[in-house]
Amino acid sequence: MSRLGTRGLVLNEKLLFELSDSGRKGYSLPASDVPPAQLDAELVRDAVEGFPELSEVDVVRHFTRLSTWNYGVDSGFYPLGSCTMKYNPKVNEVACRRPGMANLHPYTPDHLAQGALALMYELQEGLKEISGFPALTLQPAAGAHGELTGMLMVRAWHESRGGGRTRVLIPDTAHGTNPATAALCGFEVIPLASGPDGVLNVEDVRAKMDDSVAGLMVTNPNTLGLFESQIREICDVVHEKGGLVYCDGANLNALMGIARPGDLGMDVMHFNMHKTFSTPHGGGGPGAGAVGVCQALEPFLPAPLVVKTEEGFRLDDDRPQSIGRLRAFNGNFGVMVRAWAYLRSLGGEGLKRSSELAVLNANYIRARLEKVFHLPYSQRSLHEVVFTDKNLGGDCHTLDLAKRLIDYGYHPPTIYFPLVVHGAIMIEPTETESKQVLDEFCDAMLAIAREAEENPELLHEAPRCTKIGRLDETRAARQPRLCWQA
Ligand SMILES: *Cc1c(COP(=O)(O)O)cnc(C)c1O
Repeated sequence: MSRLGTRGLVLNEKLLFELSDSGRKGYSLPASDVPPAQLDAELVRDAVEGFPELSEVDVVRHFTRLSTWNYGVDSGFYPLGSCTMKYNPKVNEVACRRPGMANLHPYTPDHLAQGALALMYELQEGLKEISGFPALTLQPAAGAHGELTGMLMVRAWHESRGGGRTRVLIPDTAHGTNPATAALCGFEVIPLASGPDGVLNVEDVRAKMDDSVAGLMVTNPNTLGLFESQIREICDVVHEKGGLVYCDGANLNALMGIARPGDLGMDVMHFNMHKTFSTPHGGGGPGAGAVGVCQALEPFLPAPLVVKTEEGFRLDDDRPQSIGRLRAFNGNFGVMVRAWAYLRSLGGEGLKRSSELAVLNANYIRARLEKVFHLPYSQRSLHEVVFTDKNLGGDCHTLDLAKRLIDYGYHPPTIYFPLVVHGAIMIEPTETESKQVLDEFCDAMLAIAREAEENPELLHEAPRCTKIGRLDETRAARQPRLCWQA
């Protein structure tokens, strides 16, 4: 034991760094302990009041136990519609944890970060090819942040041509972030009613489109999972009247490799990397939401942009018309590495196949459930399918069904959205689920429909198998308690 010395070592970062580096540099183990970093005396506390004294074992068990109470894409089927809870390939994690990726300092000069810049450039070019837009920024930190970036560019474009456009058209099927974004950019929101077939009608757009309107924000396929079949004509009408079309790209998982929003006439679109390109859902911040734009909007893109020159890659800050910087440094690089790994591992054909399977899986669920669950629209679904609770017996509603699914071991689908569908149940299986998983889920849905007829209490009292029963969701939303109170 004498080689260990009498006192243990303080395992601080400096020592661990020296140890992990010792082989390469030929260092030997340090003979004595390395003193910990010195803090000023007034910054050092002996004790924190009310802070429990716990052993490592206690802490590890506490957090490991908590982690098993969570439900995620790695623990089971997660059919949230419009959210694309896509699986997170483990190879993405391997790629982004490589030391050269994970330890890169954001202030590293361009000439020492060529690999990272090359990766960003390749990702940028790949996304341009998939979407049909000639220019693109990787900077925004989420889909909603991409919306803000895109609509700020729309505003800047109008201002560069004299301005005067104060309103934005948004369909009633839109995600709430669309009107929120338009409002944040100072626009008044003009709602557009979708037709009885769930999609926009070109004549309705024509009637509302005048020279006070900056443009249209549209999701395609829309949040009902339906393709906006008149989109080409709609884009023409908006353009003829001097507006721009913003595409909410949240549902790109249905189109990759099949149709390109840039070719359909859209002028600007955000990508939700966590929905389409298999990066983890970022909880509203540490994600990525690239934005592609048409040529006319290119000068307004946030700075800096990754450009390729004869000497290599560099970050270009010299963009006089840019709307500015939207994110510290260059966005969330780790997320870009994951998206890049996904693009490279699937390739063009793989991405197309992925969209085809996403659409097939949604339609498989639709076909298995449509005799029992009411479908509000007859048009073919793309990557997600919306049912309603109209046929559910026993005075049971969408919320009861969703809670009962938890007892069957499933995360519930999206419910009560889109708002235009009364009692909506919106299911998006994604491409990676097997037929067995889809069948088991459909069996559960059908079993619950039978329970609603025969024993509705099972639904009204659900969930019964969880640690906590049904919560008062209205109160939770109206009176959130976001701080821990002992
Ligand atoms: C998810 C979603 C958004 C918001 O994207 P985030 O990346 O979560 O910020 C916007 N629009 C639609 C249609 C969505 O489904």
